[in-house]
Amino acid sequence: MKIGIFGGTFNPIHYGHLRAAEEVRGKLNFDKILFIPSGSPPLKKEEIADAIHRYKMTRLAIFTNRLFELSDIECNPPGKSFTVNTVSKLKKADPEVEFSFILGIDAFLDIINWRQPEKLTALTDFVVISRPDFKFIDLKASPYIKINIRILKELDNAKIETYSIKLNSNRNITFLRLTPIDISSTEIRWLIKQDKSIKYLLPAEVESYIISNKLY
Ligand code: ATP
Ligand code: MG
Repeated sequence: MKIGIFGGTFNPIHYGHLRAAEEVRGKLNFDKILFIPSGSPPLKKEEIADAIHRYKMTRLAIFTNRLFELSDIECNPPGKSFTVNTVSKLKKADPEVEFSFILGIDAFLDIINWRQPEKLTALTDFVVISRPDFKFIDLKASPYIKINIRILKELDNAKIETYSIKLNSNRNITFLRLTPIDISSTEIRWLIKQDKSIKYLLPAEVESYIISNKLY
């Protein structure tokens, strides 16, 4: 059984996330994708909706896809949680499963700021996905991989769609080009603040949830 773990703030979840998860699942043959909305930071950061709201919006967004699952591992108990602990717990609970952690180029570059990044990169395989405004070539600066710059350029120029190598930790990392969908939660929150429409950027059920709960 191969499971792709897709963690995020999902503040709110949008079609960029959903289409990315669907393409990763199909192209890399995952049995399912596990969505994990992050917990709320203990000091409430402005703009981050409560974990329970982000959890419920994610549930509304994925319920029609039987290969998408939702985990409350980071929201329950409430508070800040760390990816390294989450992945350890998932592996302990299901030692037979092959887990891969899915994230965008922007998020992979941020790992250095996460809790125990070296441990995390040794714990699981990774899938790094393309995202508008970010380039695979930016990964040349990552301390966790040694990769030929030519390969990164070929990914950026769509000469190749996917490429796998070993991380320095000896785990696998797969780079995967996806259909570019230029949507971000930041843009959605900004549109809401401006009283502008967010229709067709995210599922209608999520839009209704945001409106009825007066989020953002
Ligand atoms: P924010 O603008 O608040 O940071 P976001 O749109 O970046 O929100 P996150 O919840 O931060 O969404 O992202 C969760 C994961 O999904 C990250 O790994 C991120 O790189 C990836 N991701 C987000 N949007 C896209 C997109 N449009 N295409 C591909 N990957 C995406
Ligand atoms: Mg983000």
